[in-house]
Amino acid sequence: MTPQQKNIQTPKGTRDILPQDYAFYQNIFDKAEEICSYYGFKPIQTPHLEKIELFTSTVGAATDIVEKEMYTLKTSGGDNLALRPEGTASVVRAYLEHGMQTLPQPVMLWYKGSFFRHENPQRGRFREFQQFGIEILGEPKPIGEAIIIRILTLIIDELGAGPSMVQINSIGDKECRGEYRKKLVAYYKKHERALCDNCKKRLKTNPLRLLDCKNPGCAEIKKDAPQTLDYLCGECKSHLKEILEFLDTNEISYTLNPHLVRGLDYYSRTVFEIFIEDKNEDGEERTPIAVAAGGRYDYLARILGKRDVPAAGAAIGVDRLALSMQEKKVAPKLKRVPKVFLIQLSQAAKQKSLKVIEMFRKANIYIAQTVNKDNLSSQLNLASKMNIPYVLILGQKECLENTIIVRDMDTGSQESVPFEQVVDVIKKKKIKK
Ligand code: ATP
Ligand code: MG
Repeated sequence: MTPQQKNIQTPKGTRDILPQDYAFYQNIFDKAEEICSYYGFKPIQTPHLEKIELFTSTVGAATDIVEKEMYTLKTSGGDNLALRPEGTASVVRAYLEHGMQTLPQPVMLWYKGSFFRHENPQRGRFREFQQFGIEILGEPKPIGEAIIIRILTLIIDELGAGPSMVQINSIGDKECRGEYRKKLVAYYKKHERALCDNCKKRLKTNPLRLLDCKNPGCAEIKKDAPQTLDYLCGECKSHLKEILEFLDTNEISYTLNPHLVRGLDYYSRTVFEIFIEDKNEDGEERTPIAVAAGGRYDYLARILGKRDVPAAGAAIGVDRLALSMQEKKVAPKLKRVPKVFLIQLSQAAKQKSLKVIEMFRKANIYIAQTVNKDNLSSQLNLASKMNIPYVLILGQKECLENTIIVRDMDTGSQESVPFEQVVDVIKKKKIKK
């Protein structure tokens, strides 16, 4: 009986990432880790399960993520836990829990892994998805956001998925947001009847979230809504101005999107999203999807630890980035390209083959082989299909004489070399392009 017949396939919104697709994920993680370590970020891993209150208190009880999308469970010991829907709250919890405020500031961390949201699955939207996140904790100045945006655009562009397009906005701080919220509520009250049911609720519970509604009718109303930028206090204004200057100086192109807000309550001042151009198979433009998003969250730590830790961060949606690399036909960089293929032609050769693989592994030369084929031509065919330039042939005779045959796949020429010297012989050979 197959898993389908037994109805035990992957649950809705989750999937297996198979080797050919995983190569893209690996490339993304490698590139992101490389750039982050260059900029001084250190890795951190937090649990997939956290106490529910971590998210209700920080992300916000009246946000979609907490209200509708969070997977929660009660353990037999009576704990109420949630599968993490995002990474920032956990990183800030870890920062406080391990006294990282005593380290030289800022503390710069990256993380990667699965996150869970019970959303409606669609293109680029899953219930288990992967993020690569970066956080700069203990940095009040605009350089925090500037470094984060710089790193995100570098990752996206160097992977060949770009050009990346940054949208940025400031939603103000405690001082100026209150005034803006009043104006926003007054405006939406006038249009209340035309709003979707969700937005009618948002108007009462979390008015800023009105601007994040993807419903076409609500998007139309949003067009004339008051803009946060008109209500920023002097400090918020100059904070945003300084970030934009950083972006200009570093030739990072951006658009100021005065209606951009984020789906999480903990942001203050800066919010941004990064998009990449999105075309379908016929080359027609589709509405671009956000591949990364983030902002400043100066008030988050106070909620968890009763102390202020100014900070900024962002996360890349790795599945969306991988998808767009595939759609843009970016060739995945394979980590190890075999230089030699080992053909074994007898039981004795099979026994010796593990020794050969070890000799090459220790010399850092990647060797391919197949253990279940006994015949010469099928193994040669495979080596040629894999485009491997050199083949080693180990038969009964070679085992007895302690030799091995080296064949150049390009010219077809063969030589017999002493077994112990084969690694040196291959080392000297060049890979022809
Ligand atoms: P969206 O508006 O697309 O729902 P979001 O604001 O909920 O995104 P964040 O919580 O800021 O997203 O997460 C950062 C990034 O993670 C997003 O820009 C997106 O690329 C990715 N992401 C978020 N939710 C999902 C999901 N369900 N499946 C795949 N990727 C996701
Ligand atoms: Mg979302």
